[in-house]
Amino acid sequence: MENLVIFGAPGVGKGTHAGILAEKYNLLHLSTGDMLRAEIQSGSPLGERVRAKMEKGDLVGDDVVIALVDKALASTNSGVILDGFPRTVQQAQALDFLFKNHGRRMNCVISIDAPRDELVRRIHERALISGRADDANDDTIRHRLEEYEQKTKPVIDFYKVSGLLVSIDGSGEINQTSMRLCQIVDYLIKHSK
Ligand code: ADP
Repeated sequence: MENLVIFGAPGVGKGTHAGILAEKYNLLHLSTGDMLRAEIQSGSPLGERVRAKMEKGDLVGDDVVIALVDKALASTNSGVILDGFPRTVQQAQALDFLFKNHGRRMNCVISIDAPRDELVRRIHERALISGRADDANDDTIRHRLEEYEQKTKPVIDFYKVSGLLVSIDGSGEINQTSMRLCQIVDYLIKHSK
């Protein structure tokens, strides 16, 4: 059973690639962004609390997302591909704990890289179809990228130390990046004990 994290800045294509890999390798795609948007849609009190944060481009509180991931992991026995989580070092530490609790092992954290200009270009392009308020406002986009630099990038060092991190260039076409990702997952499957 493979358990992977797809890591990267807003707009890099985490959701797209996590979706492709989930389908190809029969993994459950767990996106915390999607879970939070579903909470907002449901009109739950939790959804009301997170809406303002997401619309401003702030990260939602660690406790909230950790609880959502815990619930999702408890509901499945299949391998998972996490997209948008962990986004802080606290979340990465919590994920270690959650995986142990749920009898899972992390196989790999794949970081997808692209230059900032390209991220902004992709978010603008996505805004045309996503209907996401946080994709449509330049200040919000800037703030999301700041949150990434300050709070999420340190997660890279956390996984570097544990030897789980692989970084790939995601600045090109979807097909190119997808091919690189599949090579990594094929390798992991071939060499997993
Ligand atoms: P993107 O990667 O393009 O920002 P996501 O759907 O992953 O898109 O995230 C959208 C928003 O949801 C984030 O800006 C943040 O407010 C919230 N969010 C998603 N995942 C997390 C997380 N793990 N921790 C805190 N906030 C999160």
